[in-house]
Amino acid sequence: MATPYDDQNIFAKILRGEIPNDTVLETDHTLAFRDIAPQAPEHVLVIPKGAYVCHDDFALNASDAEVVDFMRVTGRICAMLGVQPTEDGPGYRVIANAGGHGVQEVPHYHMHILAGRPLGRMLEPA
Ligand code: 5GP
Repeated sequence: MATPYDDQNIFAKILRGEIPNDTVLETDHTLAFRDIAPQAPEHVLVIPKGAYVCHDDFALNASDAEVVDFMRVTGRICAMLGVQPTEDGPGYRVIANAGGHGVQEVPHYHMHILAGRPLGRMLEPA
């Protein structure tokens, strides 16, 4: 059975305005803000405003409007940061951790956008 959504998680508190955040972009369905402990010069978290635990929960259960809006925001953030991998553009990485093996710390779906330095290989050897 899927993990139930815990509305006391830190991102739910951010969405309710109980905890401040450094907003980069906000739409009807999506909020993007800077990570409190950045792991690269640019580290933005993109979260849906709806109560979804992780990537598969969001991908399967969110409305088309929510999914499209979320994806568009990720693209807009890359453009705002100027990191698209064009001829001169440096590129970036997106990551969505899920559950125990994915080492997901906050159980509200979020996508990390990391950029601003070479990011190394995707995974260290096990
Ligand atoms: P996860 O490990 O769940 O994929 O990533 C959770 C991320 O949320 C971490 O990179 C962590 O630094 C970030 N984070 C945790 N608490 C807060 C907070 O209160 N504010 C912000 N902006 N980021 C947070």
